[in-house]
Amino acid sequence: MIDSFKYKGARNRLADSLTEKGISDSKVIEAIRAVPRHWFVESALMDSAYEDRALPIAENQTISQPYTVAFQTQLLDLKPGMKVLEIGTGSGYQCAILCAMGMKVFTIEVNRKLFQNARSVLAELDFSPTMLCGDGSMGWDKYQPYDRIIVTAACPRIPAALQKQLADGGKMVLPVGNRDLQEMCLVIKKSAQEFEIKRLDKFKFVPLRGKDGFF
Ligand code: SAM
Repeated sequence: MIDSFKYKGARNRLADSLTEKGISDSKVIEAIRAVPRHWFVESALMDSAYEDRALPIAENQTISQPYTVAFQTQLLDLKPGMKVLEIGTGSGYQCAILCAMGMKVFTIEVNRKLFQNARSVLAELDFSPTMLCGDGSMGWDKYQPYDRIIVTAACPRIPAALQKQLADGGKMVLPVGNRDLQEMCLVIKKSAQEFEIKRLDKFKFVPLRGKDGFF
């Protein structure tokens, strides 16, 4: 796939608009400027890839709105080299943002077709996250603990397995609520038993499936 001046210009305008909307972490903005979002959508939607809105991808799922990606990523408070677990690879775009920021990324997608699509576009961009096709509501025990966890699908509650797999001092960002509306939650693990939970703005995500999901 190709990048072009047209798409680079649109990407820069998107990054500037996210700054105006309150995204202040310059590393997040740099990653938005660097990652070609149009590679993660179907060819018919490429010209809409730098509008600040969610877009449909295959299998009735969505690539999150750029503002939402930037908001969640900023909340993660990332330092280079951190181990980050993402639940809901989807198109792979959020994963690419994390990779571009120098994270060691582990990502889980339940849908096999989306998993395969994301794997090939991430490889084409020379990113090498560790990927799994399966139910992320139970986390990924093999590589725990994680410094950071991000969930990009709506959760009916904070999944207990994810709380357990978070490192002490670690942070998790996830939308929690019903199927129609969720609150973005920032969970900070103080110790094995103690969690601080901050509830932030309202968002609407597609539902999390699986054992600790909606269905
Ligand atoms: N992060 C994605 C991106 O950048 O394109 C957007 C993700 S989309 C809003 C939510 C994704 O979560 C969908 O691809 C869906 O298949 C996936 N999903 C839902 N339940 C899941 C589960 N239990 N484990 C892993 N992935 C799940």
